[in-house]
Amino acid sequence: MSEKRTYVVLLGVPGAGKGTQAKLLEQSTGLPQISTGDIFRYNLKNQTELGKLAKSYMDRGDLVPDDVTIRMVEDRLQQPDCSCGAIMDGFPRNLIQAAAFDQMTAPYGGVHVTPLIQVDDDETIRRITGRRSCRTCGAVYHVLYNPPKVEGVCDVDGGELYQRDDDKEDTVRNRLFVYYKQTSPLIGYYFAKGLLREIDGAQSIEDVHSALMAVVTS
Ligand code: AMP
Repeated sequence: MSEKRTYVVLLGVPGAGKGTQAKLLEQSTGLPQISTGDIFRYNLKNQTELGKLAKSYMDRGDLVPDDVTIRMVEDRLQQPDCSCGAIMDGFPRNLIQAAAFDQMTAPYGGVHVTPLIQVDDDETIRRITGRRSCRTCGAVYHVLYNPPKVEGVCDVDGGELYQRDDDKEDTVRNRLFVYYKQTSPLIGYYFAKGLLREIDGAQSIEDVHSALMAVVTS
């Protein structure tokens, strides 16, 4: 077996706070955040072939086909910043992707832990529809819960804040449907492997981060 790496898979409904928490974990652990949603959005913005392919799926809130997504993650994990592992945010998202991820990570000791950030559905919809992201650095805010210092402007780099198209209410409902149908079986999958750790996502951002650090470093 090759050297051990730390792969953390963040689970939770869209809006549970995976992106926010993955960025904090990246700062605290030095492991890179790999957000498949961010990679797709980057490709969409730059109108690459991958972006054009992903667009219709993302607009509907459906999953981009597995073969494309899995290849994209394989490539990303081979980059030098992933040499100690990664914080996975939005991948795997179904059982096929989970099996592929097990294969990719097996030479390095497999998945380390899968924290499940739990938030109820009404709160999820409130969180997503109030979410704003920075166009340039991707930092995430919430108009009520985590507002920037100046409305519409990113605290980190001064970039413009915008609402993702797929954060509008109709698409959010389909994304939740897709989550329950395709992604929630991963809870049982990782529970059976002894890797699942439940985290109360209704706590403050700082408290969720502390709880996550405790399970990631144990
Ligand atoms: P997210 O930012 O994680 O909510 O992802 C936004 C959108 O990108 C999703 O609704 C999907 O259309 C697509 N996407 C992100 N991650 C995946 C994945 N692992 N598999 C398939 N599609 C994905």
